[in-house]
Amino acid sequence: MNNLKVIIVGAGMGGLTTAIAMSQAGYQVEVYDRVRELRPAGAGISLWSNGVKVLNRLGLGAEIAHIGGSMQRMSYFSKTGETLTDFSLQPLINTVGQRPYPVARTDLQQMLLAAFGANNVQLNSKCIAVEQTEASATAIFADGRRSTGDVVVGADGTHSLIRNFVLGQPTTRRYVGYVNWNGLVNASETLTPKKNWVIYVGDHQRASMMPVGSDRFYFFFDVPLPQGVAPKADARAELVRYFEGWAEPVQHLIQQLNPAQTNRVEIHDIEPLPNLVRGRVALLGDAGHSTAPDLGQGGCQAIEDAWVLTNALLTTNVSVADALKRYETARRDRTAEIILKARKRADMIHGKAPEKTQQWYKDLAQEDGTEIMAAIAKTILQGPLN
Ligand SMILES: Cc1cc2nc3c(=O)[nH]c(=O)nc-3n(C[C@H](O)[C@H](O)[C@H](O)COP(=O)(O)OP(=O)(O)OC[C@H]3O[C@@H](n4cnc5c(N)ncnc54)[C@H](O)[C@@H]3O)c2cc1C
Repeated sequence: MNNLKVIIVGAGMGGLTTAIAMSQAGYQVEVYDRVRELRPAGAGISLWSNGVKVLNRLGLGAEIAHIGGSMQRMSYFSKTGETLTDFSLQPLINTVGQRPYPVARTDLQQMLLAAFGANNVQLNSKCIAVEQTEASATAIFADGRRSTGDVVVGADGTHSLIRNFVLGQPTTRRYVGYVNWNGLVNASETLTPKKNWVIYVGDHQRASMMPVGSDRFYFFFDVPLPQGVAPKADARAELVRYFEGWAEPVQHLIQQLNPAQTNRVEIHDIEPLPNLVRGRVALLGDAGHSTAPDLGQGGCQAIEDAWVLTNALLTTNVSVADALKRYETARRDRTAEIILKARKRADMIHGKAPEKTQQWYKDLAQEDGTEIMAAIAKTILQGPLN
């Protein structure tokens, strides 16, 4: 279909990638976000090759390579620093045809904003309702403004309001069972070799670092905790306590991080949704499928959605609603599987059934990378550009 007007609510990585793809398709695109200033939540993200391929296809290959970290090896260590497994990621890259890029979220957002045009995003625009007729869909904003187009895309994140409209009822987010701390530090060989993704595991916890652009590491820590445990101290003091006795690089990391710039997140997901569209309104990204970050796929799935939705509109001519149904058919099972796989992996990593976590530690010590890379490749190769 040609000459469509697309209203996108949410300028996160899903909304912005959609805006770029829809603009390239020749559609008139309006993007709205409720914030006064766009600042991504969280510090870094690993963009696996399925997400990178979409960005390549949108002409952003050089830009993503520029901001991405050069991650060449993956290593697991026990909490006291014994190597469990250490391998090159090159076989994975050869299998899937594209290297992954860990990136700082701010860099990714700047890149996407520059590609779409930062001035084209209408900020301070909180969507409070959506309406539709046979012929159009409308987003309504808190200050009374209305924007009507052929399609409304709900890219409004995990707390999505548009999800309520699509489903006809609110959704409850589900606590996955652990708290994640994340941030950026200057890269240094006292922490880990600069081209390695390292993960320390033990006590159902993780501590990890991976390289991102501009000579920095994205780091994260995970600790299973009951829901709603308020932090009694700053991030460093909390991490000192939870990671007491862990290997020296983990201690160095805790001392080098900036507690004021370390995010602390209780990890949630949602149950897979029965539908992602209603008439002319489509959910995209976390609005449609919030997932635990244990596969590193939430953002990548938002980017895949953007590509599939744009192509569903471009390649069919029955009706907008028909194109959106095709999008839903292409995405519902794929994203449901990611939610459930990530949840299962989160449970295994964080000791939901402690014997499974112990078995995972033992399995890691037997790994030469083959199994780990096969699992990652499988997820990547089920993406839309393979
Ligand atoms: C700790 C952690 C680590 C992660 N690591 C990875 C990883 O390594 N790899 C990966 O691929 N994914 C990862 N993810 C997942 C990834 O962050 C999300 O899947 C991704 O940010 C979703 O993008 P989005 O555009 O759908 O939503 P968001 O980025 O949340 O954007 C939603 C936007 O909508 C706006 N908005 C919300 N409501 C309204 C409204 N009513 N009106 C107007 N605007 C509104 C918000 O202001 C926001 O800008 C991780 C997540 C977490 C929590």
